[in-house]
Amino acid sequence: MAITTDIDGAVQLLQNSGLVALPTETVYGLGANAMDAIAIAKVFKTKNRPSFDPLIVHVASIDQAHKVAELNEAALELFERFSPGPLTLVLPKKDSVPDIVTSGHSTVAIRIPDHPMTLKVIRKSHLCIAAPSANPFGYTSPTTAAHVQEQLGGKIDAILDGGPCGVGLESTILDLSGVPRVLRLGGLALEELEPVLGILEVQTSSSNPNAPGMLSAHYNPGARVRLFSNKKELIDSYYAVDNSKTGVLIMGQGLEGLAIFNLSESENIIEAASRLFTGLRILSAKGYTEIWAHKLPDKGLGRAINDRLIRAAN
Ligand code: AMP
Ligand code: MG
Repeated sequence: MAITTDIDGAVQLLQNSGLVALPTETVYGLGANAMDAIAIAKVFKTKNRPSFDPLIVHVASIDQAHKVAELNEAALELFERFSPGPLTLVLPKKDSVPDIVTSGHSTVAIRIPDHPMTLKVIRKSHLCIAAPSANPFGYTSPTTAAHVQEQLGGKIDAILDGGPCGVGLESTILDLSGVPRVLRLGGLALEELEPVLGILEVQTSSSNPNAPGMLSAHYNPGARVRLFSNKKELIDSYYAVDNSKTGVLIMGQGLEGLAIFNLSESENIIEAASRLFTGLRILSAKGYTEIWAHKLPDKGLGRAINDRLIRAAN
């Protein structure tokens, strides 16, 4: 089965140790039964993902979250407020979760994704679904079923097509197993979390052993990415050199043409986030060997976009 909208078919595959790419509001996930160590081993192999990089477990409700994690008060409050949505919480795990899912950690990352098809799959299958982004390790995350097909088609059992991802950036990861710490900037802005939790520590560097997957080089689009500190610097440099092999990701006005991918002409940050990975892909597919981008103001979703661009440029 290739790209499909057959929810019952997806449920059956997942119940039989299959791998199914699933749509979420953040990016497409490569789903497998979280309690089935054989299926999870296939996820790591298919993605070529190092075994030290733990997976996020997707559930459909707070009730179901209790099956995999010990939820404290803060976790309950945050899930009630922001779920379903792009927020992943790291919490002490229950024994039922196989070590392969958490890379041997005593904590598990859990999230309630905001996509009707995937919520249906989880409810109908009665499974908790471990799902890393559905791309080979280190590459750009997929935001459409076709992206998954390009990168993993033929290696997995099905791709459930739920349309393009609305948010387009991975979830924000918040570790609540000790003092609250943000391990990954993502689709839920810090400005949303801080009124609830106070000022948060952000610890997303690769040196942090609690976020083993946050490697400084990631999101490789297949071209060299160069990141400018602002749009003006990018534009000045673009005119100063032979730019025939250079594609550009830009926010708002300033450059136009075939080599230019505009994240959002009206400088809407939500639109920009949703188009970031697609932009990287399209420019790379057009054959540009360099992709230039500029940082956005470091606030709201701009912080998460900058984070992805920095890692893509590393
Ligand atoms: P991805 O599946 O590509 O969205 O990446 C998921 C990320 O979740 C991993 O790279 C880890 O950084 C993070 N993660 C998953 N489980 C844990 C955990 N138990 N503790 C800390 N971080 C985790
Ligand atoms: Mg990923």
